[in-house]
Amino acid sequence: MLQSEIFPKTGKEPPREAESANHKLLVRAGFIDQLMTGSWTLLPLGWRVVEKINAIIREEINKTGAQEVLMPLLHPKAIWNETGRWEKAKEIMYQFKDHRGKEYALSFTHEEIFLDIVRKHITSYQDLPIALYHFSTKFRNEPRARSGILRGREFMMKDLYSVHATEEEFWKYYEKVRQAYLRIFKRMGFDVKITEAEGGVFTDNNTHEFQVLAEGGEDTIYYCKKCNWGANKELVTNKKLLTIKCPACKSPAIKKSKAIEVGNIFPFGTWYSERMHVYYQDKFGKKKPVWFGSYGIGSTRLMGAWVEVSHDQKGIVWNKEISPFDVHLIELKTKKEGYKAKKVYEKLNENGINVLWDNRDISAGEKFTDCDLIGIPIRLVVSEKTGNKLEWKKRESDKVYFFTLHKVIEKLLG
Ligand code: ATP
Ligand code: MG
Repeated sequence: MLQSEIFPKTGKEPPREAESANHKLLVRAGFIDQLMTGSWTLLPLGWRVVEKINAIIREEINKTGAQEVLMPLLHPKAIWNETGRWEKAKEIMYQFKDHRGKEYALSFTHEEIFLDIVRKHITSYQDLPIALYHFSTKFRNEPRARSGILRGREFMMKDLYSVHATEEEFWKYYEKVRQAYLRIFKRMGFDVKITEAEGGVFTDNNTHEFQVLAEGGEDTIYYCKKCNWGANKELVTNKKLLTIKCPACKSPAIKKSKAIEVGNIFPFGTWYSERMHVYYQDKFGKKKPVWFGSYGIGSTRLMGAWVEVSHDQKGIVWNKEISPFDVHLIELKTKKEGYKAKKVYEKLNENGINVLWDNRDISAGEKFTDCDLIGIPIRLVVSEKTGNKLEWKKRESDKVYFFTLHKVIEKLLG
């Protein structure tokens, strides 16, 4: 892609009201644009990142055997009354009447919608398990939509739902998803801690949150450096869990940290299925409620979370997995201008490498500043000085190397 054609241009200053790193940098670098508090457009660069994040999620969730669908975002009131959530979740839900007086909500989650689909299609244990997921917008009337794209009133989530015949089968699948989540965050380059949190009114079980350690996070978590134990602050306070030792392995190596919740998995038992009458017949013809779980990952929040943990004074530092482009090709003005960058650009493209080529007629300084701000992991410079080689520099380092085009391609594909 040619940088002269990318919309919009980068900005010199962060927005005045911006407090968090992701807000400042993603706006300045042209990844996102704010319509109003908590409501964002993903611009071409931002959408590329979120699509890469979604592709990783999709690949790993498919491995659990789940199938992708797309569920509606406009919901009738009646379905939310079946579980009592029309009233219980009033504060977070956008609810409204149309001009005929009929009441609706904009989707803030899809448990009820999924179970409605399922109950129409199952009769016996042979129809189970079922696991469906989608990527879609969620609407939530968040009281404090600060923190840039970390907390939107409209945001993108991957949500997965599963139903099972027995408790045992449910927990087996739950564990599969837990492992898939760990692979997803690892592939993206995040260091995540799993913390337990109280399930609240919808389940007696604890839920599990996936937390990225970050100064700019809104959550506070505790975790053990010796074993896998972790809990969020609310659980620790309510259950008075923490003295000085880890409740699991008794080690004193407990750490407290600010964190960003990027994923959450919920074992719901049969609470929802009993209320929504999602029953099946077991082997002996006995009617039973299905075991139900739901599993969310915030893909737009993940983009923001990455910026929170990976930036410097100059800008964002993407990694290869979620960067909007593989390389940033910079052509410096020479007497034989354009003679080589074009060829490099074409060759890289032919090899399936995604290149952002800064072909603009501006100073070298401006090009390098934008390059650092946008944060693509590899910078390639073509100039008269580079001769028949290319200058190669990683975003996070100051060291430069000179490689032939052949070598560059080999390194990028390797
Ligand atoms: P939080 O405690 O941060 O409000 P939550 O517990 O309400 O999150 P879930 O309902 O479990 O979130 O949603 C699943 C995932 O969706 C979260 O782990 C997070 O990644 C993402 N998410 C939740 N709320 C928002 C939001 N307002 N903006 C962006 N992403 C969000
Ligand atoms: Mg919330």
